[in-house]
Amino acid sequence: MKPLTVVRSLTAGLVGIIAFGTVAGAVSLPAWWRDRDPAGDRASLAAAPVSRYVWPTYGYFTQEFRSSFNPSHSGIDIAGSVGTPIIAAADGVVTYAGFVRSGYNYGLGNMVEVRHADGTLARYAHNSRLLVREGQSVYQGQAIALMGNTGNSTGPHLHFELQQVGGGFLDPLQYLPPLSQPVRVGSQIPRQVQPVAEPPVTAQRDPRRSALPIGRRAGLYRWPTQSRQIVGGYVTAMERPHFGLDIAGTLYSPVQAAAAGEVTFAGDRGVLRNVLEIRHADDSTTVYANNHQLRVRVGQRVRQGDTIATLGNLDPYQPPHLHFEIRAANGQPLNPYILLPR
Ligand SMILES: [Zn+2]
Ligand SMILES: [Zn+2]
Repeated sequence: MKPLTVVRSLTAGLVGIIAFGTVAGAVSLPAWWRDRDPAGDRASLAAAPVSRYVWPTYGYFTQEFRSSFNPSHSGIDIAGSVGTPIIAAADGVVTYAGFVRSGYNYGLGNMVEVRHADGTLARYAHNSRLLVREGQSVYQGQAIALMGNTGNSTGPHLHFELQQVGGGFLDPLQYLPPLSQPVRVGSQIPRQVQPVAEPPVTAQRDPRRSALPIGRRAGLYRWPTQSRQIVGGYVTAMERPHFGLDIAGTLYSPVQAAAAGEVTFAGDRGVLRNVLEIRHADDSTTVYANNHQLRVRVGQRVRQGDTIATLGNLDPYQPPHLHFEIRAANGQPLNPYILLPR
């Protein structure tokens, strides 16, 4: 049961029980995990450890957080060439975009600062160009800047900082998705996310159904649980995607239809267990997995807010939670976090 051990170690690492370096050093991901086709193997995704962030760029890892070389280094450095896309590590709002002479080493240069919904703050420094403005909402995976060498910098690189709620720097390596090899100075950071300028679903939509891109139709769905505590985020990274939200809640509490529709599936789908799928009037589908008990049958019509199941704890490595997905009419997964009300 080697894969299971891997899952548990990485999950533990993500909640901070074991330092990332230790975990990554002890683990090499099995071939079935590395080589699988994310589109063709969606069912196994629920078992994958997740991070709410994605790597903000790719290139070479050149300096760690609080390095022995420089204990005041408040972020991580990834070097590459000028113009390499810098992408938002998580959804959020741009709270600063401009040139700064302060911050780490008195010169962050062209810097973008993004405040995430959970209160954490990310800073992307030394860019050649900024692609976003202050006040703008950005999506995980969106290109927000281009790599550069501005400010106090000795070569093109991204200086990436993560701050916790209320301030205080975090080591980004502890929060970014683990790679298949431990990350050290000199490590190559692979390109994992295709930068997107818009939410990744605007193609193939039926213009008769909606004049707005699907990713902007916030308000159609409501939260499927009373709780809004996200313990697993939507991750599009090629290496370890997770096309849903894991929302922790009280065991056996109601799971409710996010929108009105018809139940089109009830049962197990691969490793996703006790799954309900509801198809809505716009042909989008919401998916509810990890339930304790299903309360509706296939073919049944439900209204928004109807209790359709009770929240379960079928995943022994997570607190009781609902695995929740939203899929566009063409089957493409959408980030529920963008579509659910704030
Ligand atoms: Zn730096
Ligand atoms: Zn999940």
